[in-house]
Amino acid sequence: MVRTRFAPSPTGYLHIGGVRTALFNWLFAKRHGGQFVLRIDDTDQQRNVDEALAPILHGFRWLGMDWDEGPEVGGPFEPYYQSQRLERYQTAAKKLLADGFAYYDYATPEELDAERKAAEAAKRPFQYSRAYMAETEAERAKWEAEGRSFVVRLKMPREGVCAFNDSVRGDVEFQWSKENDHVIQRADGTCLYHLASVVDDHDLEITHVIRAEEHLSNTPRQIFIGQSLGYELPQYAHLPYVAEPGSKNKLSKRKLEKYLKNADFKRLNEHGQAIAEQIKLQTSAETFNPVIVDFYELTGYLPEAILNYLVLLGWSLDDKTEDLTIDEMIANFSLERVTKAPASFDCKKLWSFQDRYMQKLPLKQKTAKCLSFLQAAELVADPAPCEAGPKLTRIIEACGDRLKVLGDIIAYADYFFVADDQMKYDEKAFAKRLSDPQPQALLAKFRQTLAALETWDVATLDKAMHDFVAAEGIKIGEIIHAVRIGTTGQGVGPGLFDCLDILGKESCLARIDRTLALAAERNAT
Ligand code: GLU
Repeated sequence: MVRTRFAPSPTGYLHIGGVRTALFNWLFAKRHGGQFVLRIDDTDQQRNVDEALAPILHGFRWLGMDWDEGPEVGGPFEPYYQSQRLERYQTAAKKLLADGFAYYDYATPEELDAERKAAEAAKRPFQYSRAYMAETEAERAKWEAEGRSFVVRLKMPREGVCAFNDSVRGDVEFQWSKENDHVIQRADGTCLYHLASVVDDHDLEITHVIRAEEHLSNTPRQIFIGQSLGYELPQYAHLPYVAEPGSKNKLSKRKLEKYLKNADFKRLNEHGQAIAEQIKLQTSAETFNPVIVDFYELTGYLPEAILNYLVLLGWSLDDKTEDLTIDEMIANFSLERVTKAPASFDCKKLWSFQDRYMQKLPLKQKTAKCLSFLQAAELVADPAPCEAGPKLTRIIEACGDRLKVLGDIIAYADYFFVADDQMKYDEKAFAKRLSDPQPQALLAKFRQTLAALETWDVATLDKAMHDFVAAEGIKIGEIIHAVRIGTTGQGVGPGLFDCLDILGKESCLARIDRTLALAAERNAT
């Protein structure tokens, strides 16, 4: 039975690189009919774990990555929080001490520092002399009589190699001589992460530890702990890290400022900010940036597009297939096809996945998803009136591939849902197209044509405008922009006849009247 885990620390956000790691664990478990466990690494958490964990769990749910065991869903190995498993780690530390794989160390930070400096000066790697090591009660009593306090350290091997097989990196070897006697427990009894992690992986019966490459160098000490405790070791797989766009540097939240200078990230972020403003969301660069999953949900990406893009960051089906459904990913995922080289996070490429998935999304689903954005922007009431759905479907059809993310609907649908006398104008477009008497007169005249129409549909409107253009001996450009601004307030948008049809005759006439009155007012001043 395959059991994998993702073990986030509750940081208050879900990092996009973390999702890639979690996704590989999730896919691997599903591929083998196993279980995917969420374990919360909160040993160092000061306070409010729930609050800091909520965005992470929310992100998983939004992406559709369910966990078989963990917070909120429980499971046979509860609790899934490290902060609640301390006793297990203490028992393990005790056993390591009793079996001679760990010792009490009474060195002060100053003494250790002096040793470190001496090693540096002699240009040799630092290795603790174990001068203040205590392995018996008598030794402990001696140091304690001096008023010293202790930590518990691993008594690591100093010769030979730690060799193991990694599903991604193949056979790996580390020299024990380069390892240090890592601390596993503090004087107050609290235990450190490496001990906790190994004990948990064992207790939760994790078979495959699939995690980011930065943990590769932690593996020897973890193997030492596991072997010393008599555990059967899990299979390790260290994934290449997700790199900054166009580089090999690790993608991190801290470096956001720098990314935002990257043109693609900048555009993405501005687009997201614009949507956030429309839904009146309070955002800051800290909480709203394209390295964090929230960004994609708030902007209106589709989870399937994100997962499809992320699965290709370090894994591939073959050398050409890009689009994969979740089921295809599950059916084909294997650790053998994970690459060693870091995969660059390319926001443009993610955008193109999003674009394709958006075009493929069935209209009914697109309508339902767009509706919640309009409700968030308070353009449509919640619950929605029954005419909102069909109207929105028509708007979405008219928008066609202009809708790249769900949040784009706000800008396009805005003028369809506001009251006629609340429609806002793009002032630049108004000034350019409607400040002269000529287009104003043409708009007034075309209004009469519209008012006289007995049927109101795209074909009739199209014909009416072309007849009008022919009768007036003008170019279509001389009237079409004026009509668009007159009815939508905007200089650009979906097909004009679709817009007029969706708005309906009454609204179109009322809006043109309002526009003409405004133009006249402006002429006078
Ligand atoms: N909590 C660790 C992290 O977030 C997990 C490391 C591991 O997967 O072993 O990096």
